Amino acid sequence: MPLLVMKFGGTSVANIDRIRRAAKRVGVEVAKGYDVIVIVSAMAGRTNELVGWVEEISPLYDAREYDAVVSSGEAVTAGLMAVTLQEMDVPARSWQGWQVPLITTSAHSAARIEEIPTDNINAKFGEGMRVAVVAGFQGVSPEGRITTLGRGGSDTTAVAFAAAFGAERCDIYTDVDGVYTTDPRITDKARKLDKIAFEEMLELASLGAKVLQTRSVELAMRYNVRLRVLSSFEEQSDDAGTLVCAEEEIMESNVVNGIAYSRDEAKMTLISVADRPGIAAAIFTPLSDAGVNVDMIVQNISEEGRTDMTFSCPNNQVARAEKALLEAKEKGDINFHDLVADTNVAKISAVGIGMRSQSGVAARMFQTLRDEGINIKVISTSEIKISVLIDRKYMELAVQALHDAFELDKVA
Ligand code: ASP
Ligand code: MG
Repeated sequence: MPLLVMKFGGTSVANIDRIRRAAKRVGVEVAKGYDVIVIVSAMAGRTNELVGWVEEISPLYDAREYDAVVSSGEAVTAGLMAVTLQEMDVPARSWQGWQVPLITTSAHSAARIEEIPTDNINAKFGEGMRVAVVAGFQGVSPEGRITTLGRGGSDTTAVAFAAAFGAERCDIYTDVDGVYTTDPRITDKARKLDKIAFEEMLELASLGAKVLQTRSVELAMRYNVRLRVLSSFEEQSDDAGTLVCAEEEIMESNVVNGIAYSRDEAKMTLISVADRPGIAAAIFTPLSDAGVNVDMIVQNISEEGRTDMTFSCPNNQVARAEKALLEAKEKGDINFHDLVADTNVAKISAVGIGMRSQSGVAARMFQTLRDEGINIKVISTSEIKISVLIDRKYMELAVQALHDAFELDKVA
């Protein structure tokens, strides 16, 4: 029988009523002839509550016990979903990660999926079970301890199951009705996309469009799993939501398909660094060792053997970055006059696979910001993305102006 993976996020299983609604939707697919693997999140707010309890007891908690606690939210919804389906006469049973068993690395609270054996679940499908309800976000380490995949990890569970079982599609039910050209809270001209390419979704996901966990999109791209993002709060037709797919499946596309933003960025500048071979390595190795996620990097032209080096990183990593750089200076590994942090910046990015073949996108972006009187502090580009750092107070204005300039409210 053809197989579908359906994933329900926390708001879609927030209470018994919503679990019933979600189960009904599963029932519709079963009636069409699909076997279904349902992946569930914890009820909305539950994971935060569990995390809070652990942190209240001990800031230096044992990560293995943290995972034992926070994985329980999904265990509850998996069982409740199975009971609800059985109540509707749909043959279903629940599976916790370790029962599958979904094997992960031992990196507690940030584990990676290593293997999903299909025999156990397939054997049950063979015996007439129509729905396997699997607790998302969790697995088991080679040492036999419960692990979790990082916040938002149920998306990744869903895509991994779709890949392992060769599902026709992976439907992600959430509280928004698809992927938008930008955040609809910033401009009401934001438009829902019918389709978006994996590469574009990856850029938007990692840039802070919080619809899907970034790793789930990476995985979907690697295994060519077609993902559909749709709302569990509306009646759905067969082509509802946004399909995230290979770019070959997309016939028409705008040059720019999305404007993403990230509010909590910081810009750090090392002033007057001795410019010699190995200096970038000397700066960025301690930052990487300290776990700082450096994003944009700019090195100025050097004068008299000295240069400025600027980089961006998340705001909440500034203290860590400062500590690592000052320690490296003390040890004599780097030599700079001053270290300046600007924590009032935001990053705005224009994303689109059409940029590969069309020029002028950067120029249009810079002209638009100029016309609004917005100063650009740092620029970086990739094949399908242009990002700028600007003052945070202009973030909304920049997103609106760029959305207009690239006419994202209009279909290609
Ligand atoms: N319940 C987990 C979280 O809130 C995992 C998930 O929902 O994807 O992060
Ligand atoms: Mg989520």
